[in-house]
Amino acid sequence: MSFPDYFRVLAVPIVVTVAASCASPKNDSAMYELRGSTMGTRFVVKIVADDDNGMSESALRELVESELMLVDGLMSQYRPGSELSQFNRYNETTPFAVSDETFEVLAEAHRISAWTDGAFDITVGPLVEAWGFGVASEMEPPSDAEVEELRSRLGFARLRLNVEAHTVQKDEPLLEGDLSAIAKGYAVDRVAEALELAGFPRYMVEVGGEVRTGGSNDAGTPWRIAVQRPDSHEPSFQMTVPLTNAAMATSGDYRNFYEWEGRRVSHTIDPRTGRPLEHTLASVTVVTRWCMTADAVATALLVLGPEEGYRFAVANDVAALMLVRRADGGFDELLTPDFERVLSGEGVR
Ligand code: FAD
Repeated sequence: MSFPDYFRVLAVPIVVTVAASCASPKNDSAMYELRGSTMGTRFVVKIVADDDNGMSESALRELVESELMLVDGLMSQYRPGSELSQFNRYNETTPFAVSDETFEVLAEAHRISAWTDGAFDITVGPLVEAWGFGVASEMEPPSDAEVEELRSRLGFARLRLNVEAHTVQKDEPLLEGDLSAIAKGYAVDRVAEALELAGFPRYMVEVGGEVRTGGSNDAGTPWRIAVQRPDSHEPSFQMTVPLTNAAMATSGDYRNFYEWEGRRVSHTIDPRTGRPLEHTLASVTVVTRWCMTADAVATALLVLGPEEGYRFAVANDVAALMLVRRADGGFDELLTPDFERVLSGEGVR
């Protein structure tokens, strides 16, 4: 998978909290652990400081939180003043200027939408809202007529990006973007990259389950990441994954859903139908170099489903793990060859 060249080389791999070693740091390295809330979820950042580079824990926290607040302030649809919310209220078809950061995310979203034939599509925002998963929505299904009306006016191809001017233009005035499936990954990239630039190449950064690591953990071994078993009420793991200098993101139907007339209605929408997913694929975990990409590709593969998604991932050398729900409550594991490589410690291509 080639990385888009417009992306400023700022990011580094990310990680999640899980079975990281509890051993005390080797030699005289110090381990910092920062936790907090952001973007309606939690973040955890662990940093192994090999030598005293003079940066205090509070300065590290400030570095981490400033990156998270930047992304939240630009790309949250939960903040009426954010750049995304202003764009969503802009019902014109003339160009709308955005920041470099938002443009970077829109451009990667557009690339992945085109690559996955629209399975990933940030313009599903109004449908996400209509199905009860938006900022202020009731958890109940919309009417068929409403689904068709909303579906008729979405589509990533109706958003036109101008690379020179960093503007984005709507072909359909009522288009709205939803960056929930990519911007958390971007935030993790930014924190990872800021740590690298500050002289901390060994870290694990996690925001709401999107993760990236740099270097090794405090025991000098690869950071190990657990993949959660879907449907479990208490934290239980399907497996753990060694992750060094790479990113890992998971999308699933088991964290944000409601039951309606005996059926699970989850927050990932198939843009082709305008409806929540109805197949048995419970979760997709993707490992790539960049967390923004892993975040969006995991959602795209979840939309494509266990057969089409698996074929797409193998054909495109994507390191993906799919957990397919069985009638007996268990899960079948589908691993692509590139995910097997990651498990064997060879890392991502
Ligand atoms: P993922 O599986 O990564 O993505 C699913 C989400 O993507 C859906 O919820 C939907 O929004 C969207 N989506 C659905 N179908 C598609 C599709 N086909 N293509 C593309 N996107 C799709 N939540 C709060 O409760 N309060 C907040 O203040 C808040 N602030 C946020 C600020 C930012 C900048 C971001 C990015 C998100 C914020 N959120 C907030 C949402 C929350 O953090 C999670 O993003 C959300 O719960 C989904 O996370 P996930 O990893 O489970 O979903």
